[in-house]
Formats: sequence, C-alpha cells, structure tokens
Amino acid sequence: MGAHIIDGKTIAADLRAKVAAEVRRLCAEHGLIPGLAVVLVGEDAASAAYVRSKSRHTIAAGMRSFDQKLPAGVSQRELLALIGRLNADPAVHGILVQLPLPPQIDAKAVIAAIDPEKDVDGFHPLNAGRLAIGLPALVPCTPLGCILLTKTVLPSLAGCEAVVVGRSNIVGRPLAQLLLAENATVTIAHSRTRQIPAVCRRADLLYVAAGRAEMVRGDWIKPGAIVIDVGMNRNAEGRLCGDVETAAAERAAWITPVPGGVGPMTIAMLLANTLKAAELQDAA
Ligand code: NAP
Repeated sequence: MGAHIIDGKTIAADLRAKVAAEVRRLCAEHGLIPGLAVVLVGEDAASAAYVRSKSRHTIAAGMRSFDQKLPAGVSQRELLALIGRLNADPAVHGILVQLPLPPQIDAKAVIAAIDPEKDVDGFHPLNAGRLAIGLPALVPCTPLGCILLTKTVLPSLAGCEAVVVGRSNIVGRPLAQLLLAENATVTIAHSRTRQIPAVCRRADLLYVAAGRAEMVRGDWIKPGAIVIDVGMNRNAEGRLCGDVETAAAERAAWITPVPGGVGPMTIAMLLANTLKAAELQDAA
C-alpha cells in the first residue's frame, strides 16, 4: 500500500491562521503588533524570492514587516551597525538575516550580533546552547516544522527510533535535539556514516536533510515508517525534488511531499517564532 501524504501546505495554513488570530488578540488587548525585520544582502534571486514571501506572510498575519535591503558589496561594519539599530528598535521583535551572505561577511559574527531575544531563526549560539541543554529557547524554524508535521500523525514520539540524515546547524542538529526532547532514540547520520542504508532502515521516524537529490532509496525505508523529506533540490531533469526518492512512498506509512511538505512549514514557524518573541519581550 502507498504512504499517506502529510500535507504541509494545509498544516502550515492552519498554523498561520492561529498565529494571525493571536496577533489580533495581542493587538486588541495589549496594543502590541509583532514586527519582523528581514535583512537581505545582495541580489540573489532565490534569496530575494524567499524574503518577498516572508514579508507577504508576515503582513497577512497582521504583523509589521521591515525589509532591509543592502548592496552585495556592503561591509561587515555596516551590516553590524544595521543589526545594532534593529536590536535597539522596540517595534522590531524578530530579526532574520537571509543566508547565504557574500564572502566579505562573517555570517557567524553577524548571527552572534543579533539580540538572542530577537533571534527568530534560532541560530544564535545562546539559543542553540539553550536548546542543547533543554532550556526554553527560540528554535530554528525548519526543525520545528518537522516535529509539528510528525506530531500531526503521531502525537507521542516517545521511544521511537529516529534517524536524522544531516548535521547542519540549521536543520539536522537542532532537529536531533528536538527529537531527544520528545523522548525519541536519536541517531544522526552524515557524510561519514558507514552503512547508511542500514541505519535508515532502523528508523521509525526518518528525517532527511542532506541536500542530495533523491539520495535515500525506497528500499532504505522501514515498512510503516514516517518519512520527513527536508531536501529541496533540482534533479537531472531540472525538476524540484527532495532527498528521498518517490519510491519510498511504497514502504512508508506517512511521507511529506516535495514541494508542499516541510517548505511551507518553515515560514509558518517563522511567524510563530516572531509572535513568541514579541510576547516574551512584552512580558519582560
Ligand atoms: P547542509 O548545510 O549542506 O548540510 C547537509 C548535511 O547532509 C551535512 O551534515 C552533510 O554531512 C550531510 N550529507 C551530505 N551528503 C550526504 C550523504 N551522501 N550521506 C549522508 N549525509 C550527507 O544542508 P542544510 O542547510 O542542512 O539543508 C539540507 C537540505 O534541506 C537542502 O536540500 C536544503 O535546500 C534543504 N532545506 C530546506 C528547507 C525548507 O524550508 N524546506 C530549509 C532548510 C534546508 P557532513 O556534515 O558530513 O558534510
């Protein structure tokens, strides 16, 4: 039997509607309008499209959007000065710097300069550390979305064998921390992992964030597994595809499509993080 589809588009739309309702309440009861600043450096077409989409959804949720565009040749000092101004601006509750940044800029230094309370991407070392030791934190949007998608079909992940393929700071590592917090038994696989098909075959929950088109083959899937495909790649024919081949759907119980799975959740989670940051800053 083929897998059921986890419909990220619909789940993300529901979450955006919930965020918008909470924004209306905050505004009516506390006069508080959450604000998100997205900083775009340079002219990269894909980054510009992401930023437009983030801005559109921010406004649709009733929040303020402050887009900040800087030329590709901007110096690190100028970018850090902008971050400093956004940190100090009480109308801005969330700050996101669109990655990648041009080579003259040290992305780590820029991320570290963001006020951790406004770090809605959850990339600041303080938030990453808090997540790692089980303290409340702002958590990266894509892994948060992966957990929410999983829990729509399996409310308790306790005791499940979870395998995460990929160990980036943006997806794999924080996702593994979140799974641990859900009491799953977690394995992180990466480019040096031996026998990766056998490792994947152990997974009740398989998360793939390797950035390799259709790398995970159908026969790497444990029958009945839940498969969350984070990958966004172009295959040899130039078609958008995930990190998991479509044949995986023959063995999985549930699977996310690409597009329409994890992708829409990332922006919905960004709105949820901005709302959370605004509420925390307002309460402080
Ligand atoms: P990344 O920084 O390039 O990290 C990729 C990870 O996968 C690394 O840890 C790497 O291992 C591992 N890897 C690469 N090739 C592998 C292989 N053959 N076998 C096992 N592991 C392998 O990528 P990322 O930023 O995490 O993104 C991963 C994918 O998710 C990309 O396709 C990206 O476009 C997509 N993505 C989607 C969203 C969304 O919203 N839908 C958001 C973020 C990312 P090493 O550490 O050993 O090098």
